[in-house]
Amino acid sequence: MSAQIIIVDDDPLVGGLTLELLNDAGYSSRLIQDSLKAQDIIKAEKPALVILDILMPGLDGLTLLHRLKSDPETEPIRAIIVSGKSFEAEKQRAAQYGAEAFIEKPYDVELFAQKVNEIMKKQGVDPRKTARPPSEPAPVVRSELKAVVWGCRSTSSAVSPVVTRYGKHTSCVSVETPSHIFVFDAGSGISLLGNELMKSGKHKEIWLFLTHFHHDHVEGLAGFPCAHDKDYTLHISGASEADKPFEKALEAAFEPGFGDKPVPAKLELYELLEQTYEILPGVRLSVFYANHPGTTLAFALQTEGRKIVYCPDSELYGEYATALQDYDEKIGAVCRGADLMFHDGRYTAEDYKKNRNTGHSSFLAAVDFAGKNLVKALVLVHQDDSYADAVLEQMGKEAQARADERGYKLKVVLGREGLRITA
Ligand SMILES: [Zn+2]
Repeated sequence: MSAQIIIVDDDPLVGGLTLELLNDAGYSSRLIQDSLKAQDIIKAEKPALVILDILMPGLDGLTLLHRLKSDPETEPIRAIIVSGKSFEAEKQRAAQYGAEAFIEKPYDVELFAQKVNEIMKKQGVDPRKTARPPSEPAPVVRSELKAVVWGCRSTSSAVSPVVTRYGKHTSCVSVETPSHIFVFDAGSGISLLGNELMKSGKHKEIWLFLTHFHHDHVEGLAGFPCAHDKDYTLHISGASEADKPFEKALEAAFEPGFGDKPVPAKLELYELLEQTYEILPGVRLSVFYANHPGTTLAFALQTEGRKIVYCPDSELYGEYATALQDYDEKIGAVCRGADLMFHDGRYTAEDYKKNRNTGHSSFLAAVDFAGKNLVKALVLVHQDDSYADAVLEQMGKEAQARADERGYKLKVVLGREGLRITA
């Protein structure tokens, strides 16, 4: 069965997300990453709609549009141009060549879906009547993913005036599949994980992803039990700071064990950029920059047919966004449809007002963000260390109430030390 919609985009991340969005909406769609092959495929399949990126190696989207519209066989096919480039001249050319719409990237998911539905309706194509073709392979058999919060406070208990039921350790979350363990951040919570790993002896290879080098995200590294055992291999990834290469920053975090006196474990280091990596067969990691002081990363891990997002230090603008602040939309495209998301929910709404532009979010903004981007479960992390039990409990209640009140299909919990979730 031919596709109803064909997407031509060389970026596997954006193209993949668009594909997912359209498939979810009920349209049979396919993604072509090689623009040079696109014209022949479009001609053979005759979809109702094509979605073309402008900037692509090989053939740019506007030229492709022009060719499609110049061929009587493909002329009736509707087209949407999507692009991060938004010069007026580009828009005019798109319209002149016959595009139905020009949508700027990163695009608003709801508006995009609305536009597609509008065009498909005009073309007489109803998504609900066209379930996925029966020839499609059976759904992938998924293994369970186990996520554990080992620490999620903004500052560790050493300096915190309040120790609560929600825990005293700083950032560390693990995600375990039957064959691998992925660890996000090495705050003081990583010692708890290390103890458990040493006891079970289950994983001798550990994949550790660091969002950034602020103390509360790396303070547990030097004492991480597995780093002191020669049977372990630590694959550590992170970003360079503007003034400090990744290896140097890591060395400082490992101090004093890393320099002349290396830790006994085998270390494999990887510097990350904002892109998608195939880190192991069937394991994809999308790396994106978070709105937080210094170079700060956030991650979307895709494996076993699920998407888990880890974004602990990130200021969402929410209702305070100005026209120039498109951060929420930008990361929304990456986080969309996540099965599980760990996001910064440091402040109450009141305290956020006093701490705007410091790189952390109000928990309500995180709930709204997750709800709008169709995230299924949200764990609020990085709570302010000054909050005691009563405040945190109230935040948890208000968070779920907000999701319910706004009609999001979202389960929200407040992160706490030892929280275990199966995705
Ligand atoms: Zn930070």
